[in-house]
Amino acid sequence: MGGTEAGYVKEAFDTNWIAPLGPNVNGFEQDIELFLDNGCHAAALSSGTAALHLGLVLLGVKPGDEVICQSMTFSATANPITYVGATPIFVDSESDTWNISPALMAEAIEDRIAKGKKPKAIIPVHLYGMPAKMDEIVAVARRYEIPVLEDAAEALGSSINGQRCGGLGDIGVLSFNGNKIITTSGGGALVSRDAGIVKDARFLATQARDEAPHYQHSQIGYNYRMSNICAGIGRGQMEVLAERIGQRRNIYNQYLNYFEGKKGISLLAEPAGYFSNRWLTTILVDPAEAGITREDLRLALDADQVESRPLWKPMHMQPVFAGFPFYGDGTAERLFQNGLCLPSGSNLTDDDMNRIFAVMDKTLK
Ligand SMILES: *Cc1c(COP(=O)(O)O)cnc(C)c1O
Repeated sequence: MGGTEAGYVKEAFDTNWIAPLGPNVNGFEQDIELFLDNGCHAAALSSGTAALHLGLVLLGVKPGDEVICQSMTFSATANPITYVGATPIFVDSESDTWNISPALMAEAIEDRIAKGKKPKAIIPVHLYGMPAKMDEIVAVARRYEIPVLEDAAEALGSSINGQRCGGLGDIGVLSFNGNKIITTSGGGALVSRDAGIVKDARFLATQARDEAPHYQHSQIGYNYRMSNICAGIGRGQMEVLAERIGQRRNIYNQYLNYFEGKKGISLLAEPAGYFSNRWLTTILVDPAEAGITREDLRLALDADQVESRPLWKPMHMQPVFAGFPFYGDGTAERLFQNGLCLPSGSNLTDDDMNRIFAVMDKTLK
């Protein structure tokens, strides 16, 4: 926490605004809109997953439809496709950003059209804070007139040429889950430059109540609004977002310095014009060069009580998504095989970092 969160939460208690609406919800939405800029509107919701689900509903995705989805991601990106009864079409990553490959995505769209169905939406993800190649992705999407649902759950504060992630697609999704760069304990937001979409999101998120003195409904609604208490935490967190990004980038730079000259370990550099919030620092271990595998390094860290984790296991390799179409060239599988997420918390101290380096010294040449 940054320090001012409890004040906003106390205000909610003092004024008895203990509901999924109230001044903190409105204030948090304004904070998000100001931060993303670019004419973005925001609806604060109960989670990023809820925002992805509503995004698909608002784009008109129906049972039997197909949705293009980045394979290398957290399952929360893909699950909502099945909530609306649609089929995920998984696409591999490219190696510059580890996100959806625009070329393979175009190939997948062509093939799905040839097989009789044009995909109804495209979901790129900015993994670990690194922006996906949105210019190319949006260009392909426009060519086929398919809307882009941008999963920016890990990338609040990341940008391409100064344009902030979340506002780069037709609809954007943010997450404020406990593990993200800032948190409301649990929460998310749906953002769009189209004010009508965000108004509809708020409507659907509050049970789709028609305007009437009684309870009347013409559509299926959801209970997806953010609580005024959680939004209070969010208002305080927005005040320290820039600081958190600075801390995460500083941790990345410390790892970068540490690995300099060590053979077979590579970090993910920012392409020109790209800015990553460096939510997590990730590395690739080339066993031939490094003399050890990713798993050797992970187990060595673990033996000294330092937790690290393999990268996201691609969706097309998950038992639950076995048998869904996949368009790829082996990139995500290679990343999963050799990639590791290192300790990256904003509160890591110099002592913590030195301890991590000392453990790695014993394993790395
Ligand atoms: C965390 C996350 C989500 C889901 O957000 P929640 O707020 O936890 O529901 C979606 N996509 C990605 C890539 C995430 O990392």
